[in-house]
Amino acid sequence: MYLSKLAESITPYEAGEQPQDKAYIKLNTNENPYPPTKKAKTLLENFDIDRLKLYSDPNNRRLKEAIAKVYGVKEDNVFVGNGSDEVLAMCFPAFFNRGGKGVAFADITYSFYPVYASLYEIKKNIIPLKEDFSIDTESFMNTDAEGIIIANPNAPTGIVLSREEVENIIIANRNKVVIVDEAYADFSDESVVDLIEKYDNLVVVKTFSKSYSLAGIRCGYAIANSHLIDGLCRIKNSFNSYTVNSISEAIATEAMLDTDYHKKCVESVIKTRERITAELKKLKMTTLESGANFIFAKHAQVDGETLYRTLKERGILVRYFNKPRISDFVRITVGSDSEMDRLIEELKVIV
Ligand code: PMP
Repeated sequence: MYLSKLAESITPYEAGEQPQDKAYIKLNTNENPYPPTKKAKTLLENFDIDRLKLYSDPNNRRLKEAIAKVYGVKEDNVFVGNGSDEVLAMCFPAFFNRGGKGVAFADITYSFYPVYASLYEIKKNIIPLKEDFSIDTESFMNTDAEGIIIANPNAPTGIVLSREEVENIIIANRNKVVIVDEAYADFSDESVVDLIEKYDNLVVVKTFSKSYSLAGIRCGYAIANSHLIDGLCRIKNSFNSYTVNSISEAIATEAMLDTDYHKKCVESVIKTRERITAELKKLKMTTLESGANFIFAKHAQVDGETLYRTLKERGILVRYFNKPRISDFVRITVGSDSEMDRLIEELKVIV
């Protein structure tokens, strides 16, 4: 009763747990264990509270300027939003048509994509990952969908597609928009942001939530040709003029410009990822090669759900996906070194 057919029928995305009751070692939602830049702290301490009387800048000029500076692009190549989830949510209606030929994405990838497709009644063209969980590049090059979305590194596998392979997909699909979701790309070497100069059908989506340790401010961005950015702005301005609030914008600007600190945090996460991957292997766990801040791992004798439950009982949260092909696995966020040491100690007992 009262609800639209859509609200009644849609299966919403389910975010990882954010427990408020008990202190877990939280390795379930790919947050960064290191603090945000100190400049964010100073900024908050000195933030003029009177600024909050006013709406935020609907064009988020200062933040776009900072992003453009760091990536060597123009401000009109940048779009910002309330988390990259919102940016992605705006990409779907900006680039794909209701009742059209649909959007192509992998069977195992970020599970928000099918939700956005359902929300906007965009057909889903699902391309299974290969047996080894890598992206089936050939099929993406030959799809008749009207658009493509790929997470690179992919989630929850962490597997990275090389720049060359991503470029081949873009070249084979010059008449449609290719969105590359680079939420985790700072932890790999394969970003394609620079290719936006070459290909006007490429949209790269990124976030402050992972490599910048700022999941709580909800801020993400897209970099693309100005015509595509304009399309995104048209959708945004048909939805909410002020998607990024003043405090978030100011913090994100500081974080973007503090490139040294960003690099240091990313390097620490990568170092821990490699160390822990080796430790997991010693425990006879199988891991997929990750270019992200998480490790997708399984054990031959203990299934994914048991691993998840047993770790949770012992105070460690990881992410389990009860889905075909991946129900043996758990996704483990790379936390601090001491958190990961605790994880390994507990796993030694469990497996
Ligand atoms: N893309 C991928 C692949 C993700 O895993 C996530 C995090 N859940 C996001 C986008 C969204 O991140 P955020 O909205 O925090 O920027």
